[in-house]
Amino acid sequence: MSEERTNVGGVAVATGHFINNVRVSSHSTFEDRSPLDWSLKLADIARGSALDADLAVSAAQAAFPAWAALSVKQRANYLHRLADLIDENIERITTVECLDMAMLEESLRLRVIARAARNFRAYADLAEAYESRRWASNGTHNTVLRMPAGPTVVITPWNAPFMLSTWKCAPALAAGNTVILKPAEWSPLSCSLLMDLVLEAEFPPGVFNLVQGIGDEAGAALVADPRVRRISFTGSPKTGRRIGIAAARNLVPFTAELGGKGPFVVFADADLDLATEKAALMYDDAGQVCLAGTRLIVESSIRDEFLERLTNLTEKHVLGDSRDDDTTISPLIHPDHLARVEGFVQRSLEAGDTLIYGGERLMDDGLWFEPTLIEPRDNNAEIVQREVFGPVLTFQTFDSEAEAIELANSTEYGLTAMVFTTDERKADRFGLAARAGTIWVNCFLVRDLTAPFGGTGISGVGREGGDYALDFYSDLKTYQVKEDTTHG
Ligand code: NAD
Repeated sequence: MSEERTNVGGVAVATGHFINNVRVSSHSTFEDRSPLDWSLKLADIARGSALDADLAVSAAQAAFPAWAALSVKQRANYLHRLADLIDENIERITTVECLDMAMLEESLRLRVIARAARNFRAYADLAEAYESRRWASNGTHNTVLRMPAGPTVVITPWNAPFMLSTWKCAPALAAGNTVILKPAEWSPLSCSLLMDLVLEAEFPPGVFNLVQGIGDEAGAALVADPRVRRISFTGSPKTGRRIGIAAARNLVPFTAELGGKGPFVVFADADLDLATEKAALMYDDAGQVCLAGTRLIVESSIRDEFLERLTNLTEKHVLGDSRDDDTTISPLIHPDHLARVEGFVQRSLEAGDTLIYGGERLMDDGLWFEPTLIEPRDNNAEIVQREVFGPVLTFQTFDSEAEAIELANSTEYGLTAMVFTTDERKADRFGLAARAGTIWVNCFLVRDLTAPFGGTGISGVGREGGDYALDFYSDLKTYQVKEDTTHG
């Protein structure tokens, strides 16, 4: 056992796992550094092993029957308490998350961490509001019951780790499952703070656990455990496939929210102020946003005007420290990721694509990369077909609606698609034809937590959000009673 803590921007963050409401250390640790200043080591974090994973699953399994037996209302009360505590601790969580993954501090404070609290409230309320489907047929009364499924493993990526983790843990807990969360090794700190709040909210031991560690070690051990009854993953398609294989071995339902390469289609009749303002937003969070529309696909007749406006807006972006109010573009998460983004751009330009602007890292000792726009030589170019996950957009033009739809649907991804037009019927046609889990017309990043969320193609398996998530985290049971054979 260990209660080791490290000071991160004035906040004491525990470096161990959290199992059975107790901090647990490992034999070894891994280093966590700040993207704002790579020379700054933030913490040595417990490097979870197969033994730690086993301990956490055992805790979740032991806690499951009592948690599942609580009423939905009782579980909702815990979730509401946790939501309140998140709201009370927004400043501390923001400070830590900003140092750890460099998302803009203002955006974390005003939008992202508050959304995490909303995740818990929304699923507490939705679980309470659930009404079993009941109907009569074939001489029986039928009822659909949502039964808690069992210990659930949640594995999350390094971008927006606090919010993305709560988005999955909240419905799992509301549905009556116990949870083992494994956050990404590049930004492990804010989820550790979440466990302090779980303790403060007096969750029963073993209900909500945290295992820190490397994906191929702690993560792989967790998803391989046959006692786990649900796996929920957000991350890259490559890891998604591996997790799918592990889930298949144990015949465990899993969802995967994976990468994106969203088309951002602008018709000549669009409100160009709106379209270019949203296009410039695609560089926010240094482009490390799965939902972003990173392929700009613009009607040929407005090519020059669109480019001029977008270039002017992009020039206003300020690359800097994510804690400064003026900064609009933060550094990338890790030197390896910076090298990956640089590699995409270099290969693209060597292959003959055209650089419209940007293309360089900002300085030798920082992790900033300029907002970049590339016109590919053709639609098969790697820069069009693969997710870069950095501040790099591509620019293509079209001459007809059919061509716009063809280009939009021309990658293996299918997470989001955006279209800008003032023609409602054109928008509707695009919305029906575009291959994506979410379509945004004249907007971006608007989310309703009750709507289904997920991707098609290599962008994901299954849907979460609202009742879709609660159904996924439950075993649905059909209960049939022969008419006139029982009485109260
Ligand atoms: P990643 O796939 O490398 O890692 C994600 C998580 O999986 C990490 O916690 C990692 O430790 C773990 N992991 C790695 N190998 C594992 C294994 N063998 N078994 C179990 N767990 C393992 O992804 P990343 O680089 O952290 O995140 C970036 C990716 O996430 C991008 O592709 C991005 O588009 C995607 N993403 C998708 C969404 C969405 O909602 N669809 C949201 C955010 C990020």
